[in-house]
Amino acid sequence: MDLLRSVKDRTDDTEFYTPLPAGYTPGSTRYVAIFGTVMSGLGKGIFSSSLAKLLKDKGLRVSPVKLEGYLNIDSGTLNPFRHGEVFVLDDGMETDMDLGTYERMLDQDLTRANFTTSGQIYSSVLEKERKGDYLGRDVQMIPHVTGEVKYRLRDLAVKTQADVVFVEVGGTVGDIENAFYIEALRELSYEEGEGSVIFVALTYVLSPPALGEQKSKAAQLGIKRLMEYGIHPHIIACRAENPVVEKVRQKMSVYSNVPVKRVFSMHDLPSIYLLPDAMREAGLDSEVVQLLNLGGRVNSAADARAAVEWSRFTSKITSAAQTVNIGITGKYTALRDSYASIIKALEHAGASNDAHVNVKWIDTTELTDADVLKAMGDVGGIIVPGGFGSRGTAGKIACIKYARLNKVPYLGLCFGFQMAVIEYARNVCGLAGADTTEISPDCKHPVIDILPEQKQIEGLGGNMRLGGQDIDITPGTLASELFGGAGRIRMRFRHRYEVDPRYIDQLQKAGLVFSGRHPVHPIMQVLELPRSVHPYFIGCQSHPELTSRPLRPQPMFVGLVKASLAKKG
Ligand code: GLN
Repeated sequence: MDLLRSVKDRTDDTEFYTPLPAGYTPGSTRYVAIFGTVMSGLGKGIFSSSLAKLLKDKGLRVSPVKLEGYLNIDSGTLNPFRHGEVFVLDDGMETDMDLGTYERMLDQDLTRANFTTSGQIYSSVLEKERKGDYLGRDVQMIPHVTGEVKYRLRDLAVKTQADVVFVEVGGTVGDIENAFYIEALRELSYEEGEGSVIFVALTYVLSPPALGEQKSKAAQLGIKRLMEYGIHPHIIACRAENPVVEKVRQKMSVYSNVPVKRVFSMHDLPSIYLLPDAMREAGLDSEVVQLLNLGGRVNSAADARAAVEWSRFTSKITSAAQTVNIGITGKYTALRDSYASIIKALEHAGASNDAHVNVKWIDTTELTDADVLKAMGDVGGIIVPGGFGSRGTAGKIACIKYARLNKVPYLGLCFGFQMAVIEYARNVCGLAGADTTEISPDCKHPVIDILPEQKQIEGLGGNMRLGGQDIDITPGTLASELFGGAGRIRMRFRHRYEVDPRYIDQLQKAGLVFSGRHPVHPIMQVLELPRSVHPYFIGCQSHPELTSRPLRPQPMFVGLVKASLAKKG
């Protein structure tokens, strides 16, 4: 901290280069940095968001940031097969699915400032270099690239007025691409001073079935690797299938100088939402408050209230009174991460209905009208989620037709909304050849089409419509029932195609109701069938799954689970 005060921000006569954002007060913000060792995919985001939640519960202002190693500027072009779903923020930023975990756990909307990739870092450094911002110096990984990382972290602190910034470093310690992030955090800790930055190492305790016991060597080596970077962890979280035994925790402690009470067993749990309680029980939150000297900012009454509210939610997750099967169709059936937000939205909606939702995956690639009953016979309701391209679409339409005719509760999300329009146009309006131009550019009835002129109105040109948009809900509809009356709501979008307004009249005359629209333009956002015809048939052009939160479940999902339970009973 003193270091920061004593040195000029930018200078060419010192090695010390740390530009500070305007308004930054050194020493007022605390930082918790989370690194993964041994292997990736251990749940750094889940750990970090759970810990952040516990601090938020205490009345502290928290702000998470994910630092991605890859060079892409955002996650928009990433294949969900490899990386899990693309999560869209309200400001339109396409991010890693971890941002969804943070938004849900914290019940807090995030922005592009909460998401950084190596590509973003390097492009701002190169841009500054071209503008001559580096005052004739050779531009280096240290201090310039690391300086850019620190600048962003502090800028986030200023923008969000955070008491604590949670920094999650993507990938694993030892990767080439995240090494400069780790170095930047080491520098940050030096500059901010004692008690301002703490480090968490998430590691993995193996338990080879042939040995029948937990082995900590790989975990120890992982921590050693982190120490080679000059980072000594304050907390070690051990991922494992089963609770990490005391002996192994002691061993981790001895080999890393981290007190046993701060070696946390992060074993598999039935739901990630049980993790905050497990951490609280282990006293991890109090340890962090102490290490960061935040005791004076803690609101204990708010903390107690939040704990009660949360346990009301988690008890529904562990012991729900009923069970219901919900089918999900989709191209990425092999990889559940592609549908992470939908699965979470169902978990939230289940808890609010006192029900456990069993997800049943329906592969539609070979599905036809003839065998749809076999695929859908045992589901209480069905979701056709977002998607791109033609694979499996005939099967999806078969499922929608079955759901419509047999009164199976239906929820269509984005592509599932478009498919429902096509199914209705073909099978009710009698428009043979109705399709989306995404699949069939020369179809006879392009009921779903790319309409650049519509998007120009919103300033999007021919691009993907991304991020939060307002929707006006029509009074007296199922949608208005779900959203607590007519009026304006907001949802997040990620699509290129939409309903061609030339077909709206015809579809409506045949009984389809467009119950949610763009406030000004003829952009259809929600569709439904009247209750008199179908117990629950609804679709939306947006992605409501992205804004479902544990304690504020998304109404369309709540409605689906409720209707599916009613059908089953
Ligand atoms: N492929 C469709 C479109 O671009 C739907 C997109 C989606 O489901 N996210 O409009």
